[in-house]
Amino acid sequence: MVYGALDIGGTKIAGALVDDEGRLLVRTERATPARRPAEELMGAVSGVLDELASHLAWEALSCLGIASAGPVDTAAGTVSPVNIPAWRRFPLVERVRAHPRTPVGLRPVLVGDAVAMTAAEHWLGAARGVDNALCMVVSTGVGGGLVLNGRLHPGRSGNAGHIGHITVDLDGPVCACGAPGCVEGLASGTAIAAHALAAGWTAPPGATPDAAAVAAAARNGDVRARAAYERAAQALAAAIAATTALVELDLVVIGGGVAQAGDTLFTPLRRRMADYAVLDFTRDVPIVPARLALDAGLIGAAAAASAGLGHPAAHVAAAPRP
Ligand SMILES: [Zn+2]
Repeated sequence: MVYGALDIGGTKIAGALVDDEGRLLVRTERATPARRPAEELMGAVSGVLDELASHLAWEALSCLGIASAGPVDTAAGTVSPVNIPAWRRFPLVERVRAHPRTPVGLRPVLVGDAVAMTAAEHWLGAARGVDNALCMVVSTGVGGGLVLNGRLHPGRSGNAGHIGHITVDLDGPVCACGAPGCVEGLASGTAIAAHALAAGWTAPPGATPDAAAVAAAARNGDVRARAAYERAAQALAAAIAATTALVELDLVVIGGGVAQAGDTLFTPLRRRMADYAVLDFTRDVPIVPARLALDAGLIGAAAAASAGLGHPAAHVAAAPRP
């Protein structure tokens, strides 16, 4: 059985053929012409599909998953990636389905990138064998996805688990989404860097003043840098505790660029959980780093598509944890 996968991002369009153990049999990518017209973008997707279809394994294709930068509407089959302005409600599912090499009758499965990451972590990564998990991507934005009762829970439009836009500060700054005090406005890499800069921190000469530079400064004891991570950790802890109270999480997985800060993020986050996760059933939920940084989008797209066939995610969910 071979699963097809596409991963559409603001910088690259990747494709792969994946076997039923999650191995990439074929992988290809090209740069996203992100500022170009809609059809030129679709041309890049078609090129990736053509290349995948030229491999023998394509003949055994059983499903095709598409992970895309959001927002996505999986019910409508459309994508409107923030970083790809020419695609607004672009009918990506229909266009991929209509590609000449797509097998007749095969309906591509669309998922948002954070939901794909969740599917990947559940299939092969840190959430393997876990029945109820929240997987988060903390980078320039904050996204997430849910596994409930052993299955991926994408929701009606594919956006369930979008924890970045939960309000944790009632009177906080208005987020790009329009609501006040969102997690994303406090805990994203962008927010961490902005908080540190506002407190008077500056990046070393030649370095980009981003969350990674703030993390380096925090490790060297810079109190302004540490405060920025502390605030991010506080926002994440409040949102994770709330999610735990709603659905009784067994595990929280955090990936994305900001998670690369390691203990600089995870130590205050685990400490702050004690402030918010105070009920017996919410206390002591493990919070761990993601395992599949590389190609999580492709593996997750394959997992989400194959779940519709009854595997592999459904199989693995029932298996004991390694
Ligand atoms: Zn928001």
